[in-house]
This record gives sequence, structure tokens and C-alpha cells, in this order.
Amino acid sequence: MWKIKRDVLRLIMESSKSSYPDEFGAFLRAKHNIIYEIILLPGTISGGGSVLYNLLMKPIDFTIVGSVHSHPSGFPIPSEADLQMFSRIGDVHIIVAYPFTMDSWKAYNRRGEEIEIKVI
Ligand SMILES: [Zn+2]
Repeated sequence: MWKIKRDVLRLIMESSKSSYPDEFGAFLRAKHNIIYEIILLPGTISGGGSVLYNLLMKPIDFTIVGSVHSHPSGFPIPSEADLQMFSRIGDVHIIVAYPFTMDSWKAYNRRGEEIEIKVI
């Protein structure tokens, strides 16, 4: 069972709001299945799917367990490109959707199946 620190989720929502209407993307770092940090990538902030390209430039770092990105459109449903990226990077992926409130997000595993993440 994955868990995420409330402060981290809050930071994700704030970052997504600042990036809006563009996408926001980052990696998730975890210890003992608790996501405690996001890793921002240089140059990820822009529209048109470039967030995904940058996420694929993943450094080799085994504390990175997955990804998070925003959907300014408002639906936290993975696209085809998202599913491809999920299958390559880690096993926990969060999509946050406009208006980026603490409950406007969903999480998926590497197969794109919805999973539960407990906020702690
Ligand atoms: Zn997406």
C-alpha cells in the first residue's frame, strides 16, 4: 500500500496551479512505500506533452518510484502517452486534475490500473 505525505500532495497541487494552463511534471521519491518528496526536472514546464519527454529522461536513481503530472483539462485519466510512460518508469503514478484540490487526483500502477494511495 502506497502512502503520500500530505505536504507533498499540497506542494504538487500548488505547483500544478502555478504551471496552469501548462502541465506540471515531476518524479516521486519514496522510502518504505511513503512518498516524501518530488523531484522537479529542469525544463519540464511547458505545454504539448513535453512533460512526458522530460520524464523519460529519468536519471538512474532507485529512490524514484514513479511520476506525477497535471492535467489542466480537468480529467485525471491517463492518455495513451501516459500509459507508455507509466510502463517505463516506476510503479506509482499520480495524475492531478484541474482545479487541483486535495481530492482532484488519481493514482495508477505501471499497467495503468487505478490504485489507492493513502494521504498521511
Ligand atoms: Zn497525462
